[in-house]
Amino acid sequence: KIQVPEAARRIIEQLNTSGFEAYVVGGCVRDSLLGRQPEDWDITTSAKPEQVKEIFNRTVDTGIQHGTVTVLIDHEGYEVTTYRIDGEYEDGRHPKSVEFTGNLLEDLRRRDFTINAMAYSDREGLVDAFDGVKDLEGRVIRCVGNPLDRFTEDALRILRAIRFSAQLGFDMEAETRAAISVIAPNMAKVSKERIQVELTKLLLSDHPGRLKDVYENGIGPYISKHFEAAGRQPFKSERFTELPPVKHMRWSGFLRLEQPEDAVRILKELKLDNDTIYQTKTLVSLWKTEIPAHKPAIRQVMSTLSPELFKDLLWFQKVFCPPSYKNRLEKVEQYSEEILRAGDCIRLKDMAVTGRELIDAGMKPGPEMGTVLNRLFQLVLEKPECNNREYLMKSAEQFIKEQG
Ligand code: ATP
Ligand code: MG
Repeated sequence: KIQVPEAARRIIEQLNTSGFEAYVVGGCVRDSLLGRQPEDWDITTSAKPEQVKEIFNRTVDTGIQHGTVTVLIDHEGYEVTTYRIDGEYEDGRHPKSVEFTGNLLEDLRRRDFTINAMAYSDREGLVDAFDGVKDLEGRVIRCVGNPLDRFTEDALRILRAIRFSAQLGFDMEAETRAAISVIAPNMAKVSKERIQVELTKLLLSDHPGRLKDVYENGIGPYISKHFEAAGRQPFKSERFTELPPVKHMRWSGFLRLEQPEDAVRILKELKLDNDTIYQTKTLVSLWKTEIPAHKPAIRQVMSTLSPELFKDLLWFQKVFCPPSYKNRLEKVEQYSEEILRAGDCIRLKDMAVTGRELIDAGMKPGPEMGTVLNRLFQLVLEKPECNNREYLMKSAEQFIKEQG
């Protein structure tokens, strides 16, 4: 039933040959059983990290202190982690220590949810000690063991529970659900990066509207004051899924009613990358601006964005703008495609003259030059047919005369 890829099978076989147990484990088992494509194949083994490194030629110490070694096979990495028992949790953040064990069941017991606590190998078949299959069939997220304890050990699991429920369309098992709001305050101890990874996965999922569970369970204030404030806005869940599952599109969908600078503050707090912050800020700033169905105006907007981000803006507007704008929006889209197809100049660097050429023609460098170039650019955005050297040089002379 579980089709383990060739490379992972080879790793398991080699470990077995050396006298160790080894299984694929966690997300890949869960996704295979659901008929979903696993993102990566993690391996769990009774071999200690040093032993794993002896067995394989090419390895990287990716998380050796936690027992993880990445084994490289045909340029692909497979994380091989020693069976472990997580020590006491210091602060709901990291286990103080990890202890290796020779017992697979102990390793499975430290995992967060029953559906994530299954292991498989061709030799031993499926190891499902916590009824993960039953919960996959019942479509529920259930903690392994006592939910209050498990969420107390690591509060991030709360967000993981909501994230998996959004990705899989599963419900929360009752006790697990009840524990979430009780332990919510502990989220304050979790690092913003880890929180962000889960929120981003949630937003990119098939059910991004489940973000409301974060707020309804009182988790918002423990992420941040500004994040909590953003939850007061209605983020209509049905609409969300019409946005493509792309980071800046989904974050913009969520934050669209914020002031752009507030959106940026939230994204920075959560340590999103600069590209996503810039793209989201742009969409949040512009999506309510209706673009005239008029090519010069469209070129104007296009000149301030990349063609890709402009397309995203139109998509975004299609999802969220008032129906009264719909028809015009279609025209804008059609015109923008024509503009791109015609190769109209929409970037300063595509102009038929450069500042260099103006200087070579005897014009004085300086701030006026910038003004002249900008006027030429405006002219070209207005009338693309003017984008030829001769005409622009003549116009430049004219502008300089006017400017005195
Ligand atoms: P994804 O498809 O998002 O990668 P995944 O289940 O593989 O989902 P990972 O974060 O890659 O999730 O973690 C791999 C496995 O490690 C999980 O399936 C789970 O068994 C275990 N795990 C990960 N994070 C935790 C945690 N915070 N607490 C307990 N177990 C965890
Ligand atoms: Mg994974």
